[in-house]
Amino acid sequence: MERIVVVGAALAGTRAVQSLHAEGFTGEVVVVGAEDHLPYDRPPLSKKLLTGDLAPEAIALRHELDDTTTWLLGRRAVGLDPVARRLRLADGESLAYDGLVVATGSAARRLPTVPHVPGTFLLRTLDDALALRSELVPGARVAVVGTGFIGTEIASTCRDLGLEVTLLGALPVLHRPMGPLSPAAAERARAYGVQVVEGVTVAGLDVDGCVTGVRLDDGTTVPADVVVVAVGAAPVTDWLAGSGAVLEDGVVCDETLAVLGVDDVVAAGDVARWPHPALGGDLLRVEHWTNAAEQGAAAARRLLHGPGVAAFGPVPSFWTDQFATRIQGVGFPTLGPDVTVVDGDPAGRRFVAEYRRAGRLVGAVVAGSPRALLPYRAELQHLAQAPLLPTAGAA
Ligand SMILES: Cc1cc2nc3c(=O)[nH]c(=O)nc-3n(C[C@H](O)[C@H](O)[C@H](O)COP(=O)(O)OP(=O)(O)OC[C@H]3O[C@@H](n4cnc5c(N)ncnc54)[C@H](O)[C@@H]3O)c2cc1C
Repeated sequence: MERIVVVGAALAGTRAVQSLHAEGFTGEVVVVGAEDHLPYDRPPLSKKLLTGDLAPEAIALRHELDDTTTWLLGRRAVGLDPVARRLRLADGESLAYDGLVVATGSAARRLPTVPHVPGTFLLRTLDDALALRSELVPGARVAVVGTGFIGTEIASTCRDLGLEVTLLGALPVLHRPMGPLSPAAAERARAYGVQVVEGVTVAGLDVDGCVTGVRLDDGTTVPADVVVVAVGAAPVTDWLAGSGAVLEDGVVCDETLAVLGVDDVVAAGDVARWPHPALGGDLLRVEHWTNAAEQGAAAARRLLHGPGVAAFGPVPSFWTDQFATRIQGVGFPTLGPDVTVVDGDPAGRRFVAEYRRAGRLVGAVVAGSPRALLPYRAELQHLAQAPLLPTAGAA
């Protein structure tokens, strides 16, 4: 291969570039990124960058600035012709490639009941975070719609800034990642001073030039000067429509991250959906930092070395910082309905919880206790050798 094009200049794309160089690739690497910024880290956007404790320069990802890597920033890919091996950009230019890495991540979902009026925000990019930060001023009343990781982190950050904040959503707080421990997550948020309203959806906004409140389907209204919609993200695959790449809640890959339906194209990060060895062939898509980093590197190796590389199957892991607590998880807690708290208090700053399915350990979640995670990570490595039964909805 003489030229490899990486689409998406963020974590997975950056790790792919680093891996190409580390594996000895001496051809040309071109990275196409829709944002104007060089690659940066997203986790601080809802945490220390939002409080102002970190400046934008402090969250830059290490990237290769060398003669063989070209960074095309502020440029969006809009189409792929896998027969001619060309990538089409929004400005009409097209780039030839011998191999291509899909690393376009995911984009924040909108809510049809929350129109884009002054005072409403999404949080996915650095520009989103800087815009939101400028509105988190003393006295601002904030409503966060969405009770997942990002919603809870934003609520926590607002409390750190001394703001009044309501966290609301259809699902209980951290319902998907924590399962039966969700009530403890809500308790932790309330203890930090957050108003928590679960089991509601947004019917509409009150607007008087800018937003003044969030109307809920139960007939109540939450007064708010700032509304942040944090209801999850969707994989960015529109630019691959019609290319032949298999698209189904992400870009579908084989077990080595080669994209199905097109040659010499691999995918990594939030956008990639692949059969994880631990799931007996079921497809998985993961929206966590560690997966994007590891998968970017692995996808680049697959592109260079071909189908003989090992299946991609590390044990997934995540962390979240909220309400002065670091919560970390490993494995597939969402697949384990049977939860045992073996240490601490799940509403407190320190606990260890095991998630089991039919008696088998499938995941663990810990808080304030990073070392406690290590034995679980080691034990869960064996899942790839003896997969869980095929299951639905593991991501
Ligand atoms: C606010 C926030 C906080 C988070 N906190 C945590 C955390 O605490 N722990 C954790 O494990 N994970 C966290 N995550 C998730 C983690 O950041 C993501 O899993 C990771 O960023 C995924 O990286 P990626 O490179 O796959 O995709 P992305 O980071 O989504 O990057 C994709 C890039 O591709 C670009 N792109 C999209 N379409 C095109 C196109 N057509 N042409 C060119 N470029 C394009 C986008 O502009 C973007 O820059 C957080 C995410 C967010 C948003």
